Amino acid sequence: MEKFDLAIIGAGPGGYEAAVFASKNGLKTALIEKNQLGGTCLNSGCIPTKTLLHTADLYHDVVNQSAKIGISYSDFNLSMADMQKRKQEVISSLQDGISKLMKTNKVTVIKGTATIADAHQINITDEDTTTQIEANKILITSGSVPAIPPIEGSNYTLTSDDLLNSDKVFDSLIIIGGGVIGIEFASLYTSLGKKVIVIEALDRILANMDKEFSQSIKMLLGKRGADIHAKAMVKKIALDSENPNKFTCYYTEKDKEQSISADAVLMAVGRRAFIHNLWTDNVDIAVDRGKIVVSEFYQTKVDNIYAAGDVIGGIQLAHTATAEAINAVCHMVNQPPKYDTSLIPSCIYTNPEIASVGLTSDDAKKLDKKIITLKYPMGANGKSLLSLQERGFIKIIADSQTKQILGAQLMCARATDMISQFTLAIANKLTTDDLTKIIYPHPTFNEGVGKALE
Ligand code: FAD
Ligand code: NAD
Repeated sequence: MEKFDLAIIGAGPGGYEAAVFASKNGLKTALIEKNQLGGTCLNSGCIPTKTLLHTADLYHDVVNQSAKIGISYSDFNLSMADMQKRKQEVISSLQDGISKLMKTNKVTVIKGTATIADAHQINITDEDTTTQIEANKILITSGSVPAIPPIEGSNYTLTSDDLLNSDKVFDSLIIIGGGVIGIEFASLYTSLGKKVIVIEALDRILANMDKEFSQSIKMLLGKRGADIHAKAMVKKIALDSENPNKFTCYYTEKDKEQSISADAVLMAVGRRAFIHNLWTDNVDIAVDRGKIVVSEFYQTKVDNIYAAGDVIGGIQLAHTATAEAINAVCHMVNQPPKYDTSLIPSCIYTNPEIASVGLTSDDAKKLDKKIITLKYPMGANGKSLLSLQERGFIKIIADSQTKQILGAQLMCARATDMISQFTLAIANKLTTDDLTKIIYPHPTFNEGVGKALE
């Protein structure tokens, strides 16, 4: 039986990044993956959605803005089959990159489904063969899968996995759940000119983000033909009684029974940790509401077995999974944690983009913190205006006395790239004066930051 210092189960952004880090720190490392390298993020999450959104956004701009910027055309087509081909090219290229990275760093990649047989032994099954390895330490980064709530007719719905692999563009789409996945798909479909209906149980879409994002995105999606229903609970999904190719969603909104039909229904109500058959009865790993329970060092109840990323719940993002998994390896090799996981930026790839880090004004209110809010509308920013992307704003939250930057919420072109300067500022306790001293090149979207500070 081959012996390793560390065996990692799951090659998503948690697993494969931790494997490289472990190997660089001298651990003989095995990385076990039952599907494709890259996990959810690369194969059915971050990368495929953003690849399709890239085309959809270009399509939307050409259809709606070309006349304004001096482009005319006589014929113009959109092919989802070709969009899927492009998506697959991007995925394959990045998979090759990960594969090479594993080779360069001498990580042993093992294809198969892992089951932890006891604290140090893992059985790996690939088709009909089962092999065993021994590991001093084990890290579980098995990720998550779409949650399907017990609503009658849920079997008629599609998940993000289904929609990301479909060659079809539906003319109308009901989206159950106005969270991040729901709103990115709403953006994709409205950019392609399709009818979208979002049904969200809470009182607003993107409910765990700044209120202004919810209001602005609701308005923007509305202008592009989306109907957004908040405080709406889906009761049942069924085949449409008049058209068997359509589906009807029955829901209550403001105590009224409503129904709406569309060509497809996307279920986007969250993701659940994936722990199915991951360990045998010999292994006593604690689980709470389906998620693996870990200590602050990412140790499970069995202290040589660690877990990180989506499988432990919390903030389910690729960069969180990477940071947690690397911090877990730090603990294994007696190093302090590499990353500060208390400050995690989050980004949504709508058009315009949304990005947020640190405190929002609502958070500050709850904490009874006295703050100042500096805000700049991007309609006044030259780069935004010349590129027809003038919607949106930059909002900076700072302590009213010390002027220390506590948070930032951006909704504008390139917001997802611009947010990191605020993560840096908050992590290093910079003040608004510190950021005012630097020169912002002209014309850039980033000039909006300087203007907000002024
Ligand atoms: P995963 O990426 O889920 O990887 C887990 C891996 O473990 C999988 O490959 C699985 O096959 C494997 N595995 C499971 N069990 C076993 C077993 N027993 N044996 C062997 N292998 C096993 N996050 C962002 O930060 N930015 C985004 O833009 C973004 N967009 C997203 C869009 C969508 C549609 C979705 C669904 C998610 C998105 N996310 C995004 C979230 C992000 O994909 C996840 O947070 C991230 O992939 C979690 O990483 P992980 O390493 O914990 O697990
Ligand atoms: P989510 O938790 O972001 O949103 C789910 C939404 O569904 C919530 O607003 C919730 O109130 C609503 N909901 C739940 N049950 C409902 C019901 N029965 N009827 C109507 N609405 C209901 O989950 P998600 O959008 O599925 O995304 C899953 C994870 O993937 C997120 O944690 C997110 O971090 C990650 N993700 C990130 C990105 C990104 O970073 N850009 C993109 C996509 C996904």
